[in-house]
Amino acid sequence: MKMRFNITDFAAVQAEESIQEQVSLAKYNTFRFDYLAEFLATATDLESLKALLAWAKHFKQPITMIGGGSNVLIAADVPGLVIINRLTGISAREQAGNQVSLTVASGENWHQVVEHAVTQHWFGIENLALIPGTAGAAPVQNIGAYGVEIKDVIARVQVINTTTGDVYWITGHDCGFAYRDSHFKGVWKGSLLITAIELSLKKQGVLQLNYGGLSERIEGIPSLESVFNLVCQVRSEKLPDPLAIGNAGSFFKNPIVDQKHHDALKAQYPSLVSFPFEAGYKLAAGWLIDQAGWKGKVFQGVGVYDKQALVLVNYSESLADSLLDLEAQIKLSVNDKYGVLLEREPVQLPQSAYSSVEVG
Ligand SMILES: Cc1cc2nc3c(=O)[nH]c(=O)nc-3n(C[C@H](O)[C@H](O)[C@H](O)COP(=O)(O)OP(=O)(O)OC[C@H]3O[C@@H](n4cnc5c(N)ncnc54)[C@H](O)[C@@H]3O)c2cc1C
Repeated sequence: MKMRFNITDFAAVQAEESIQEQVSLAKYNTFRFDYLAEFLATATDLESLKALLAWAKHFKQPITMIGGGSNVLIAADVPGLVIINRLTGISAREQAGNQVSLTVASGENWHQVVEHAVTQHWFGIENLALIPGTAGAAPVQNIGAYGVEIKDVIARVQVINTTTGDVYWITGHDCGFAYRDSHFKGVWKGSLLITAIELSLKKQGVLQLNYGGLSERIEGIPSLESVFNLVCQVRSEKLPDPLAIGNAGSFFKNPIVDQKHHDALKAQYPSLVSFPFEAGYKLAAGWLIDQAGWKGKVFQGVGVYDKQALVLVNYSESLADSLLDLEAQIKLSVNDKYGVLLEREPVQLPQSAYSSVEVG
């Protein structure tokens, strides 16, 4: 049965007690940019989330959900209600044959979900180890690493409609998954929040090793555990730990170009790193930025990480302006040199489309 908000709902009134005003978001984003949330509250279960949405609707406040804050670029104070997602719970259903269905509440830590699956000897998400953030944000940009994307294993996504409070499931096929994209970043942005995900894992699976040099680094016969450990090791060597240096992982998507553009670039730059993708090629954005001379550069407390040029970092207490300047300069120089437009991966907040308010 579908449940609907009632504006005079006692829960909405109670929610107010858990809402704080003018709260620093520095500890809620991995860049650690220090802007304020007008209102902030934590949702720990579906009921508290519903109550917060009812409150936001009643007071006509826009809402923004933050999980781990590892894929956001907060560039100004965020108006309205920021909801920190801490919905918890994991349950598994072994099915006949090879399948395991793993249902995970959206506020669970993603890496711990991967660890749990590997411990249980379930295949499918081992290559996605050590990606920061929550399980519920993983489908938003269809997280991917080492040749695997979450779309490969998502059976269903449970959502709540921010206006009506309806809670229902949507199949993975209907989520509009694409390279670092889904309907949650597009047409559903602001109207649907993810409350749980259901993964379809395998008791016996095929390991994906043919990406990013994983196979060369495996010692002995590859196993589920050794692939998981290797992914963790490679990532720790290459990527900055957000607890030590503010960052949001890859700052740019790998740009996709057509065959003609690719061939012209390859002729001019034989060491160009690229991969066939659909009808064209995906270019390694890190290579483009590195070769344009940006790796290791530092400006006004922000910079380009010295071990991986795709990662922009915040070394200071700076606000986001210096990072936005650096982004603009990198985009300009890469476009001048290669005729390629880089697109940002993290979501900028506040975003005006993010609203729970439906006036009617
Ligand atoms: C060091 C590092 C390495 C990374 N490596 C990778 C990588 O290999 N591959 C990769 O794909 N990403 C990577 N990322 C990016 C990031 O970890 C992922 O995108 C992750 O899924 C973000 O989760 P989060 O909970 O932190 O999302 P947040 O940053 O909190 O939110 C991201 C966006 O999703 C929205 N959102 C959050 N939760 C929900 C929800 N429940 N329902 C609807 N919308 C929601 C937010 O409003 C925001 O727009 C990396 C980041 C870092 C810092």
